[in-house]
Amino acid sequence: MTDAELLPARLRVAPSPTGDPHVGTAYMSLFNLAWARRTKGEFVLRIEDTDRARYVADSEQQIFETLRWLDLVWDEGPDVGGPSAPYRQSERLETYQPFVDELIGSGHAYHCWCSPERLAEMRAQQQASKQANTGYDRLCHGKTREERAALPGFSETPVVRMFIPDDVDTTFTDLIRGEVAAPVPDDQVILKTDGFPTYHLAVVVDDHLMGITHVVRGEEWISSTPKHVLLYRWLGWDVPAFAHMPLLRNTDKSKISKRKNPAARLLWFREQGYLPEALVNFLQLLGYAGDDEGEVQSFDDFVAQFDWAKVNTVGPVFDLDKLNWLNGHY
Ligand code: GLU
Repeated sequence: MTDAELLPARLRVAPSPTGDPHVGTAYMSLFNLAWARRTKGEFVLRIEDTDRARYVADSEQQIFETLRWLDLVWDEGPDVGGPSAPYRQSERLETYQPFVDELIGSGHAYHCWCSPERLAEMRAQQQASKQANTGYDRLCHGKTREERAALPGFSETPVVRMFIPDDVDTTFTDLIRGEVAAPVPDDQVILKTDGFPTYHLAVVVDDHLMGITHVVRGEEWISSTPKHVLLYRWLGWDVPAFAHMPLLRNTDKSKISKRKNPAARLLWFREQGYLPEALVNFLQLLGYAGDDEGEVQSFDDFVAQFDWAKVNTVGPVFDLDKLNWLNGHY
């Protein structure tokens, strides 16, 4: 690996406190932390709590406790502070508004006053005419409030949407997957009627302001990354490196979910008496097709030889027999 690739990196994990922590939070923390340690950089914990409808009060504390139990610890975060504080998005609300105004001013975003009923009607019509997934029809684009108010389906409290031209280039480079050509998204909402930013705006603004150099997250975010790349471009910011990790799968290859599999809950492993070292070792093996000098490998040894080129691109199967074996060897 070149010296430039090993420059001190800043990475983050950004869980949403929506319930008891998912095993994916530990899996993502592990890979982010590994690169931060390998490059002698920093690892940040940020709480993404802008979705107030899904907010669960105890969740944040459980995230802290379970990650500490696994010794996947952060250098900066809501409970330890740091130069980019605050680290909870709900405490950063005034940070986002100037960037919304800037995007509106440059024509990259616009107000949308369409009521939920009008949007539902629009989608139903698109479906009936087999135009599924065409997205928002831009009724509000280029209109003043007065012009729009004269039309049906007007709501007093607008959202703000990105204006994403149909022919925009949305390819990006992924450290694990190379060039990724994701489809052009429709006009994404970035500010909600309650004044809270959506994930897409908040994640870009925070990653930029917190100096994040590598965004490492699950592959379910691949279709969102083009929106983020556009926001970086429009705001005149450097685009970070991206790595989208393959999702953990059940043995039937379905996505691991708390509804289907008790092992999707991070707390489950502690309740079952698993050793934290064994679980960390198991998560390392799941994401990584590394040198494989035996299956028992400490986190420090894993970090010492970590390389993005060796990360799996196919969904690793969550095989508890393997974890049980590892647990017996610690
Ligand atoms: N808040 C998102 C989540 O819960 C984070 C996605 C990202 O890392 O950008 O998965």
